Amino acid sequence: MIPIIEKEKCTACGNCADICPPGAITLDNEAVCIAADLCEECGFCVTQCPVGAITIRFPMSLDR
Ligand code: SF4
Ligand code: SF4
Repeated sequence: MIPIIEKEKCTACGNCADICPPGAITLDNEAVCIAADLCEECGFCVTQCPVGAITIRFPMSLDR
């Protein structure tokens, strides 16, 4: 599952784009965009967002 951005919370600080190892996150016109084909689901961006705008929902299959 790639991260979900809550656009209402995002302040376009750029932290998530800076921390993303494969460079999957871009800021375009202050809107955060995540390239699903590049995202490695590491979760770093979730920990770096100062306003808690990023979440990852893990698949149910991990709940065993
Ligand atoms: S989960 Fe990792 S790879 Fe995916 S967008 Fe966030 S920092 Fe980048
Ligand atoms: S770290 Fe959070 S507030 Fe900053 S650009 Fe990314 S989603 Fe927006």
